Amino acid sequence: MAEAPESEPIPSSSENTVACDVKDEEEPLAKKRKVDKEVNEKLEHRLGGILCCAVCLDLPQAAVYQCSNGHLMCATCFTHLLADARLRDEAATCPNCRVEISKTSASRNLAVEKTVSELPAECKYCTQVFPRHSLQHHEQKSCENRITGCRYECIGCGWRGPAHESVPHEAACPHPHRSAAEVVDVIAEREKRVRDSNAVYDQLLDLLSYEKISFNDLQLKPYRTEEYVHKLYYETSRFSAFGHQWVVKAFINKNQRDPTQSSQREITYQLILKSKTACPVPLQWAWLRGPFGDAALRPRLHQHSFSDEHSDAPPLPLPLADPADANRLLANKAIHFRLFLASK
Ligand SMILES: [Zn+2]
Ligand SMILES: [Zn+2]
Ligand SMILES: [Zn+2]
Ligand SMILES: [Zn+2]
Repeated sequence: MAEAPESEPIPSSSENTVACDVKDEEEPLAKKRKVDKEVNEKLEHRLGGILCCAVCLDLPQAAVYQCSNGHLMCATCFTHLLADARLRDEAATCPNCRVEISKTSASRNLAVEKTVSELPAECKYCTQVFPRHSLQHHEQKSCENRITGCRYECIGCGWRGPAHESVPHEAACPHPHRSAAEVVDVIAEREKRVRDSNAVYDQLLDLLSYEKISFNDLQLKPYRTEEYVHKLYYETSRFSAFGHQWVVKAFINKNQRDPTQSSQREITYQLILKSKTACPVPLQWAWLRGPFGDAALRPRLHQHSFSDEHSDAPPLPLPLADPADANRLLANKAIHFRLFLASK
């Protein structure tokens, strides 16, 4: 959800009760407020029951989808239902009324999305109540009780605590008074981590200068075997690179027989040499999003020396930036990606 500007907290019922106890002359007003509050709470409660997702029963955080009969589903559950149906090779259906659902037949319900974003929710740190659309901003940016670190963390301070305690902590923190010789190891370790995470970009740039480079925009499509056991796998059509024929296969949850039994989805893939070769083919490759890809990837570089005996590279996890995107990929007819290959 996009960050929304922070709203004023919604007054809590305890504030109303205090006002009622202190001033007798305000009693009728306070009573009215209390009654209004109770009515509101009940209304909020009832709305929560009506607007929740039919699958997980939670109030949707972002997009809300509905079947053609109007039953509501949060985006995560909707994608999960579509992915499950693809894995089972059947049509996805609404859990309430069994009507068929798909990306084209289901629609967003913007009125429900907006209403849910206005419903009150409690901050997990300070228990103040905010409209849902501004809760994230409050919890991450401005709540006095949110957990923060010390500004001298970069030179080794490991303090974590509520934001309102960070100013007194930093005033007394011993770390800024340490000598350069004492903090040099911490800084060197930090620099190493940055270098390591940047190394993959340097390697990818380096590959662009190789004599032989190639890329293919590929589609992994689901297939089923019925020979021994019912097995589901994904495969691309054959493609050529460097005078050889290749294929990419992928498996869900390490070849689990029925991946719909687990809520976690893990996709592993294997690059396979399909043609015979007289001498080994050492290859480096990276899986990229490509022009039709549906999920952000964290670039990784892999290598394998392909030969007739070692025609299958070891299985590797699909480098998704957000593992939750696996369901989004599986909900589609095919998984689109670009395979970048390089050989010296
Ligand atoms: Zn849900
Ligand atoms: Zn329905
Ligand atoms: Zn708070
Ligand atoms: Zn500190």
